[in-house]
Amino acid sequence: MSRFLNKKYRGLEVYTPGEQPQDVPYIKLNTNESPFPPAPKVLDILSRREIEKLRLYSDPACTSLINRLAELYGVLPQQLYVSNGSDEILNFAFMAFGGKDVEAAFPDISYGFYKVFAALHGIRYTEIPVKADFSIDYRDYCHLHKLIVLANPNAPTGLTLSVSEIEEIVKTNPAHVVVVDEAYVDFGAESCYPLINRYPNLLVVQTFSKSRSMAGARLGFALGSEELIDDLNKIKYSTNPYNVNRLTLLAGEASVDSDEYYRDRCRKITEIRSYTSKELKGMGFTVLPSKANFIFAERKDIKGSYIYEELKKRGILIRHFTAPRIENYNRITIGTLEEMNILLNQLRIIINRK
Ligand SMILES: *Cc1c(COP(=O)(O)O)cnc(C)c1O
Repeated sequence: MSRFLNKKYRGLEVYTPGEQPQDVPYIKLNTNESPFPPAPKVLDILSRREIEKLRLYSDPACTSLINRLAELYGVLPQQLYVSNGSDEILNFAFMAFGGKDVEAAFPDISYGFYKVFAALHGIRYTEIPVKADFSIDYRDYCHLHKLIVLANPNAPTGLTLSVSEIEEIVKTNPAHVVVVDEAYVDFGAESCYPLINRYPNLLVVQTFSKSRSMAGARLGFALGSEELIDDLNKIKYSTNPYNVNRLTLLAGEASVDSDEYYRDRCRKITEIRSYTSKELKGMGFTVLPSKANFIFAERKDIKGSYIYEELKKRGILIRHFTAPRIENYNRITIGTLEEMNILLNQLRIIINRK
């Protein structure tokens, strides 16, 4: 740290992303990427001609992508915002809708970035404990009078709230924004975005990173009332108007045009998730009922960190967290069936050696 750094950032605890090793070819089950490539249309659209156009700025209004998304979701283009990954939207949402007089609230076990954003913008926050089974009690969030941020499905548990429970939260906090982070919604949960037409305080955030196999392209979007979308644009045009690059915009458009391809891949991933969960349970693991492209599991008698380390030695990366209550758990991304079978075989060896 230099002595020039603004005082307000000196104590910042940054977000720690999952490992992205650039050397050994690991079986990567640690950051919830898709094991499948983007749709064929996406691969075809990134031609030499388009790459040459990188000399030009991208469309700051992202018109073509927004129009396609509006059609896909049946909303107005003015109800959509497109961003450089959904993390950017979450950051903007804390910046726009939290403040000195507006505290934030989110579950104590959830996406680790929320408290980093809150701290970055000097927003005080409450971490509301999830229940013993890691589920969220929606009643904890009703009449809260705070900026509420919920991942649904939640990470790293994979557990969900129903749309009617979310509606109750949104309805009972009319003076505050409720952000629903639906990064994993395409893997079998129900999106609450249809509620944006009735509740001007609901912001739904989604991403191309997981279900659309485009984590490296950095593309996210938000659905909300025109007023909320205006607010996000205000921040975007005060920081980085060209926040989505040309190639990503093109890839995103081709991706929206390939919706059936992604639905099919998501279905496949949910099938592999069922299979993997069943096998893990058969091996004595406790596995939470996940609606995401990962599962959260523990063996009560074996340390989670030990399983993580042993798998890493064998070329398989999973995600281990050290936070209280979940330190015995590991989060395992659903890969291909072949990858899951390799994982299961290695786990059998590790357990038998114990
Ligand atoms: C992966 C993830 C994101 C970030 O997605 P990007 O669009 O890649 O920035 C946001 N929220 C949750 C809960 C995630 O797991």
